[in-house]
Amino acid sequence: MGSRLVDTIPSLSYDDDKSDDAYAFVRALRMSGGDGANSYSANSLLQRRVLSMAKPVLVKNTQDMMMNLDFPSYIKVAELGCSSGQNSFLAISEIINTVNMLCQQLNQNPPEIDCCLNDLPENDFNTTFKFVPFFNKELMITNKSSCFIYGAPGSFYSRLFSRNSLHFVHSSYALHFLSKVPEKHGNDKGSVYITSSSPQSTYKAYLNQFQKDFTMFLRLRSEEIVSNGRMVLTFIGRNTLNNDPLYRDCCHFWTLLSKSLRDLVFEGHVSESKLDAFNMPFYDPNEQELEEVIRNEGSFEINDLEKHVFDLSLSNNNNEEDDYEAGYNAANCIRAVTEPMLVAHFGEDIIDILFDRYAHHVAEHASCRNKTSVTLVVSLAKK
Ligand code: SAH
Repeated sequence: MGSRLVDTIPSLSYDDDKSDDAYAFVRALRMSGGDGANSYSANSLLQRRVLSMAKPVLVKNTQDMMMNLDFPSYIKVAELGCSSGQNSFLAISEIINTVNMLCQQLNQNPPEIDCCLNDLPENDFNTTFKFVPFFNKELMITNKSSCFIYGAPGSFYSRLFSRNSLHFVHSSYALHFLSKVPEKHGNDKGSVYITSSSPQSTYKAYLNQFQKDFTMFLRLRSEEIVSNGRMVLTFIGRNTLNNDPLYRDCCHFWTLLSKSLRDLVFEGHVSESKLDAFNMPFYDPNEQELEEVIRNEGSFEINDLEKHVFDLSLSNNNNEEDDYEAGYNAANCIRAVTEPMLVAHFGEDIIDILFDRYAHHVAEHASCRNKTSVTLVVSLAKK
């Protein structure tokens, strides 16, 4: 019965472009589910750090939204790319606290709040939904408020909500995932992403795909968000050197993943052609690229555009053992983000070996100076 139902639905994949079959693993894009040792839930401390960096912008824009909309009696909030586990709730609890505190301070009635948690349909929503009772209890204790939680499975590169229904949208560390791997040009073998030795055409292909995807995202959200509604979006950005768009640090996470996969090719676990056929559906824009897409699309006003650079260096460690432990932590973090896609393409047998190699490469780069990660936070108001 179940399979007959699936047979009658022409396309369940979130991007049914036929040319994408070469990159079928993109359909497996999701974070590792559950709450075990290799899960996203247990390996997303970095993302939590990023969420706290964006907090001032989030609070300010929530307050502005409430005041500009003249304290509506009802608001609908969306968290896009919520993943699974506690991170799904961090921003929305901040938004709800801010709304309630502002209402108290200004003697206004607090609104009823609907919160929609979005991610791709394959996301482990169950692990997230198990936290709902704790989340609501916490809200009740901290500010005697509550909200209604809904799941909104689907790609944020498609319509997710009804017209003019959203007041606030938040998304953290999700929009750098593209809807597909761009068609690549030139000779760029042995790398899963842009590296300093890639041809310019690779950069152009990735940038072009990012522009298309992010434009589409803004257009769709502009239909769903009420006038004067707000969005706060956080992206992985990139370090720059001499304005070279190809520059990535030697210890950049995708550079280390490429290196680890090349180790596996060398050892005979993976074929060269298999590695060449794997590329990340990812783009790390700089501020200008982000700003340009927003201005060209035209539906949103930019309120804030912040660049945060934070230190990821392991050089404070005193001994090799600490370096290796830090290497394994970094490997687990990348594993939680990439495992479903890697398994879809390479099979599960290589995963433990791959991330063992990855941890060693991170440890080898422990003495790299200025090992930093760039985060871009942008806040937008619907015109
Ligand atoms: N916001 C969370 C999760 C970041 S991981 C945090 O800060 O910890 C990125 C999430 O975006 C993943 O769960 C991934 O499945 C989701 N994602 C990627 N592309 C998406 C798309 N097109 N539509 C919806 N979600 C997407």
